[in-house]
Amino acid sequence: MNKRAYNFNAGPAALPLEVLQQAQEQFVDFQGIGMSIMEVSHRSKQYEQVHNETQALLKELLHIPDNYKIMFLQGGASSQFTMIPMNLVGEGQVSSYVHTGSWANKAIKEAKLFSDVHIAASSKEQDFKEIPDLSALELPEQAAYLHITSNETIGGIQYQQFPQTGKVPLIADMSSDILCRPLDVSKFGLIYAGAQKNLGPSGVTIVIAREDLVQESPANLPSMFRYDTHIDNNSLYNTPPVYSIYMVNLVLKWVKEKGGLAEMEQFNQEKTKLIYDVIDQSQGFYRGVAAPADRSIMNLTFTMENEALEKQFIQESQEAGFVGLKGHRSVGGLRASTYNAVPYESCKALQQFMLDFQKKHG
Ligand SMILES: *Cc1c(COP(=O)(O)O)cnc(C)c1O
Repeated sequence: MNKRAYNFNAGPAALPLEVLQQAQEQFVDFQGIGMSIMEVSHRSKQYEQVHNETQALLKELLHIPDNYKIMFLQGGASSQFTMIPMNLVGEGQVSSYVHTGSWANKAIKEAKLFSDVHIAASSKEQDFKEIPDLSALELPEQAAYLHITSNETIGGIQYQQFPQTGKVPLIADMSSDILCRPLDVSKFGLIYAGAQKNLGPSGVTIVIAREDLVQESPANLPSMFRYDTHIDNNSLYNTPPVYSIYMVNLVLKWVKEKGGLAEMEQFNQEKTKLIYDVIDQSQGFYRGVAAPADRSIMNLTFTMENEALEKQFIQESQEAGFVGLKGHRSVGGLRASTYNAVPYESCKALQQFMLDFQKKHG
């Protein structure tokens, strides 16, 4: 096999090599059935086993309490921006959001179509370089939920602790940091994540929801947009994204084999320290975007003195085998996404590349 790229893509993103190889082995013949898992009915016992085992693995890794349901949905995390207010905001209620950047903004935009949106806090004034202080958070009496974005994939900021919301359910978009660290699911009403950053390939979105919140959707909603449809049918109302769920299954087994979420967190901290240290010790050659206290261990954003130098950095990094270091088109700059599956070796190589680049151009 040719050398693997140093893959720092933001999403879809790196998958564990072991997982890709396992999938390759089983590609045309899944467990001796003479067919790919893609070629069998979603009602077959072979697929059903994959489906239920994937839920069980999520439950085990995240210690999901018994009163929560796990759904496998399509339409990406972006569809959840709509489904959440559609399903959860009742008569006379409002939806509350914390505005922390690009992804929070998209969630807010959709919520406005279905509810009165209350902005509970925002770091707009700080250019979304930090998570707002939520220690004195006050929510309206009629708030149906508070929505947060646990990790802003584009800005590179991440919650280090979650707000206390009392009896108002806390909802989190964890698309870019689910499984990166241990999590107390019982603090949340609903958690969702598109798979293509930390869980597998695109095509499936995981929704973990407290049962009482999603048991009964408003009567006027179409079947496919109702949480109760998917819960009543164990996410098999229609054909689920079989292959994506199968890949998530393999990724979850990989995480489990690595030791679980505490080990993942330690591993991610070790990886990102390599790069943040270079930034902090570069005397301004590299400039971290996020406030140090809110730095993400998934998406590391930084800039340089001018755009020409950043362009040079991207070009030389590509020549050296690095992929995906260009910042999101909406904000520019540079970004290294170091999801669970990004190996330590890739981060070590990036560290060395950054040091060498500074020596050459600093
Ligand atoms: C990528 C991403 C999304 C969008 O996910 P899709 O599956 O493409 O809809 C939403 N929120 C966050 C935080 C993301 O990183």
